[in-house]
Amino acid sequence: MNLAEYKGVYVFAQQVDNQISSIALELIGKGKDLAKDLGTTVTAVLVGSNVKGLADELGEYGADKVIVVDDPELKDYRTEPYTHAITSVINEFKPDIFLIGATAIGRDLGPRVCARIHTGLTADCTQLDIGDFPLVATPGKEQKHGQLLMTRPAFGGNTIATIACPEFRPQMATVRPGVMQKLDREAGRKAEVIEFNPGFTPDNKYVEILEIVKAVSDVADIMDAKILVSGGRGVGSAENFKLLDDLAEAIGGTVSCSRAVVDSGWKPKDLQVGQTGKTVRPHVYFAIGISGAIQHVAGMEESDIIIAINKDESAPIFDVADYGIVGDLNKIVPMLTEKIKEA
Ligand code: FAD
Repeated sequence: MNLAEYKGVYVFAQQVDNQISSIALELIGKGKDLAKDLGTTVTAVLVGSNVKGLADELGEYGADKVIVVDDPELKDYRTEPYTHAITSVINEFKPDIFLIGATAIGRDLGPRVCARIHTGLTADCTQLDIGDFPLVATPGKEQKHGQLLMTRPAFGGNTIATIACPEFRPQMATVRPGVMQKLDREAGRKAEVIEFNPGFTPDNKYVEILEIVKAVSDVADIMDAKILVSGGRGVGSAENFKLLDDLAEAIGGTVSCSRAVVDSGWKPKDLQVGQTGKTVRPHVYFAIGISGAIQHVAGMEESDIIIAINKDESAPIFDVADYGIVGDLNKIVPMLTEKIKEA
């Protein structure tokens, strides 16, 4: 493989029902950082049916080029046609780096594409950098700059692994939604649009979609919340979450929780923050009766302000908190709610 032929940072611009997903914009934002380091550009790959109009939005969020693969076969996500679209783009344009969101679609698509084009995939990354390879300087071995270093939790979250793919291209990663930051929208900024259609043969039609039934949920998406009131095992019971509901209502926040709470059946999995839950980045994150295990912190440490309430002053949550209150949440939370209501 001639690695020098592969150039540019590419991101999969996931869209659902002709709406660009937030992760696509987050990947463009991160892609810009990487591209700057490498002296190259960011290309968004937009796949779907009647999606060309979305290219403008991708340009306004920082994409330098948009490759549009538009075909009626690509109306709804199906593994085979989308894999065919992405592998064809990679074979034609030879990107150095290709990033995909670690969404349900991305987790299906990423490994399939990598297997088809014989490269590696680092799944569920929480950090991406351009650095040197080998990672550690060793006498007699030249360290080359320009390697994508992909970081993700490993061994059940007990360690953080940095992984490189030095011998194959593209270097591919799926990236956790909510971790990277999208750029501010720049109205009128234009990307170069390239239309590309590799053609779709009957081989790409293994699955036919008969009906789509959308999940109906009355639970707010915690990834969009500006204030999260998060409870842990220390809350004690499903009923006692009423204290947190009241605080959330008073302050205009949304309730979320730790995994211990989900495992206890007190709250649904949709509300779980952490390594195996959602990554959140609210302005204010209340951690109430949460110890601060590494797997929980991985999902909330990027919050602007963290306020911890815990009766154990040595709880690790205080290491990441901006403000800490040591005491019994059953006393402190109602007092806080009252004060906020009075203000
Ligand atoms: P605990 O650790 O039991 O902490 C309860 C806290 O409440 C304690 O600090 C205690 O001092 C405090 N407390 C008790 N009573 C009161 C009171 N009256 N007033 C004030 N404070 C009180 N966890 C996640 O949250 N999210 C994940 O995504 C996640 N993924 C994981 C993935 C793997 C592979 C593994 C192995 C674990 C994962 N975990 C995850 C679990 C994680 O390791 C912890 O077990 C979990 O976060 C603990 O939840 P907790 O803080 O609510 O409970």
